[in-house]
Amino acid sequence: MTPFLDALRATLPDLRLLTDEIDRESYRRDETAHHEPGLPLGVAIPTTTDEVSAILRLATEHRTPVVPRGEGTGLSGGAAGVDGALTLVLSRMNRILEIDRDNLVAVVQPGVLNADLKAAVAAEGLFYAPDPASYEICSIGGNIGTNAGGLCCVKYGVTRDAVLSLEIVMADGRVIRTGGRNVKDVAGYSLTHLVVGSQGTLAIVTEATLRLRPAPPPKQTMLAFFPTIRAAGQAVAAMTRAGVEPCTLELMDRMTIAAVDDWHHLGLDRSAAGLLLIESDRPGTAADAELAIAESCCAEAGATSITRATEPMEADWLRQVRRLAFRAMERLGVARMEDVGAPRSRLPELLVAIERIASAHDVQCGTFGHAGDGNLHPTFVWERGDAAAEERAQAACEELYRAAIALGGTVTGEHGIGATRRPFLEAQAGADAVAVMRAIKAALDPLGILNPGKVL
Ligand SMILES: Cc1cc2nc3c(=O)[nH]c(=O)nc-3n(C[C@H](O)[C@H](O)[C@H](O)COP(=O)(O)OP(=O)(O)OC[C@H]3O[C@@H](n4cnc5c(N)ncnc54)[C@H](O)[C@@H]3O)c2cc1C
Repeated sequence: MTPFLDALRATLPDLRLLTDEIDRESYRRDETAHHEPGLPLGVAIPTTTDEVSAILRLATEHRTPVVPRGEGTGLSGGAAGVDGALTLVLSRMNRILEIDRDNLVAVVQPGVLNADLKAAVAAEGLFYAPDPASYEICSIGGNIGTNAGGLCCVKYGVTRDAVLSLEIVMADGRVIRTGGRNVKDVAGYSLTHLVVGSQGTLAIVTEATLRLRPAPPPKQTMLAFFPTIRAAGQAVAAMTRAGVEPCTLELMDRMTIAAVDDWHHLGLDRSAAGLLLIESDRPGTAADAELAIAESCCAEAGATSITRATEPMEADWLRQVRRLAFRAMERLGVARMEDVGAPRSRLPELLVAIERIASAHDVQCGTFGHAGDGNLHPTFVWERGDAAAEERAQAACEELYRAAIALGGTVTGEHGIGATRRPFLEAQAGADAVAVMRAIKAALDPLGILNPGKVL
């Protein structure tokens, strides 16, 4: 025990505080398999905002860093342990506090799982849009921490677009509210939008007011297979040009198709170099009309086959195929999922660059992702313990980041800079922008106790 942990026990005798090495070990990692994190000093699992606030006051007093954590599914090491820091797990603050139909908002604690919120609002005929592929296992707090994206951002935006107001605990323990229930609100700086995506480095979210929508009509689903990955990219660019606004526009390449098919034996076309999953949730015949335009974009780009799901269960399966992509790659070895993005018109160039870079560095790479957003997940895979392959993958990633930046894109579309992409933030954002970020961090967390070593 340390004076800080002693003080925590004395001040908050009912707080669940784990200090055994075996418990601390289980909170060392998030899902970022290639990242080597530190060992938490202790793990606190509070149930109220008051507890979070008291923990932060003591952390400030004892100069002890704090790592906020939701469900630990992050892919940039954001919730991964830091030596000597307290890991603060928000998963027991998991109540849906209110579903306000009159204002189309839900008020939730941060530990609510995305899937549980979706199900609860769906039961009221409403829709919570943010939809990461991990929605069944990740928390709203983690989604806010990373500004998570997902499968339907192409039409409904990212997590930031769904957050109206937050209750946050500052580094010194003060509790403040940002924003409100209003659709329009320009009173002062938007602290809400500053905190969303800050990966626990500026404040800890203890409550969120989220925007709901009326439930959209059932989706119509289409699958198109392509002879080259570039052709798939060209179809995406053509759809954007044509003004098609699908609610899902996802891509999988040859290696990912094979990995999913080997696992679940779905009879996917393994001779194809890529597939697109395209969905429309427009009402009535408008969905048909939208998919007809998408179909002609695919055909013009050279699609070898195009099929439509005939019943909802078939469509669910096709969606599931895409959601299984990362787990399928993980079955092949250590899987390092990257998260690059480019303006949508340049998606074909990004796809070609990924293939070129993987081949030049002699690493296996399967690519899938949110093609409609220009956001791809090239996933490098190597055998566990093959240090030379891991080094080649590292070199490939660095070249990939440079290629994305050169296309006017980003080194991370939705997973965050976290611990793993820090060296590339300045290359993308520029030194002056990073200096402004550092000034904000210093103003809100002058002692640097919130999630040190992440983002900046
Ligand atoms: C199979 C798989 C598929 C995935 N698909 C997607 C996808 O489609 N789109 C996508 O965006 N991501 C995806 N992810 C990544 C991950 O699920 C998301 O980043 C998710 O938002 C993390 O939520 P979490 O609860 O696990 O948060 P954690 O991993 O625990 O934390 C994430 C970050 O948020 C911070 N944080 C957590 N809670 C709080 C809080 N209360 N206050 C302040 N900061 C906090 C943490 O410090 C950390 O920096 C996927 C991951 C997996 C394993």
